[in-house]
Amino acid sequence: MADCIFCRIAAHEAPATIRYEDGDAVAFDDLGRRAPLHVLVIPRRHVASLAEADAATIGAVGAAAARVARDAGYAERGYRVVTNVGPEAGQSVPHLHFHVLAGRQLGWPPG
Ligand code: AMP
Repeated sequence: MADCIFCRIAAHEAPATIRYEDGDAVAFDDLGRRAPLHVLVIPRRHVASLAEADAATIGAVGAAAARVARDAGYAERGYRVVTNVGPEAGQSVPHLHFHVLAGRQLGWPPG
């Protein structure tokens, strides 16, 4: 989608610090970092949210999220993967993204 910032990042048309990419998924640093590691993992193909994603897309994004956390050294310490769906959850970008957060003690439940 031409006016989607995450589509433009996936196409390398908008700036981002990309940590990992493959044919299905792209992972890049969140601009508003909330933890020492805060990466967003998105599907290349535009999907508005988890609610509209198929199993293959969710699998590709989930596997990329685990890989990013492992490659950053957080496999043992632990990390959180979260996706916001819709306004009450605070989804601000309508392109599916998994937040990968690590590097500090993460509170539960999230706010
Ligand atoms: P959410 O509120 O769950 O939809 O998360 C959207 C996230 O995207 C926020 O954490 C923003 O900081 C992040 N974000 C928005 N625009 C960009 C961008 N151009 N590059 C990197 N992260 C972004």
